Amino acid sequence: MEKKTKYCPFCGNEIDSAYLNCPICGKSQYSVMEIKPKHKKKNMLLAVFLSLLFTGLGQAYLRQWFRGLAFIISAFSIVLFLGPYLTDEEIMIVGVFFGILSAIDAYFLAKKINQSSV
Ligand SMILES: [Zn+2]
Repeated sequence: MEKKTKYCPFCGNEIDSAYLNCPICGKSQYSVMEIKPKHKKKNMLLAVFLSLLFTGLGQAYLRQWFRGLAFIISAFSIVLFLGPYLTDEEIMIVGVFFGILSAIDAYFLAKKINQSSV
């Protein structure tokens, strides 16, 4: 009976496909299968829409937590510091401005993520 073999993705040596760890370099063969499905394409329009809905939400969808948080914090701190000097309309304009800024950022972020996961 012939043995089934495969090539280790880490060192490139031909090994028995039944091995869970490569006998030559010792890397786990199981984790390779786990990592693969994670490279999912992100929906660019959804990222933009979420950012328009709420500043930083599109970044959160793209798993760029700190980036999303930075958008929320800067938007809130401007409203907090300038709030007493601005009218409600002007505060709304600031909110819309940050929403658009966040949406543009989310668009390019999604584009970058999709290109790198091909
Ligand atoms: Zn190996």
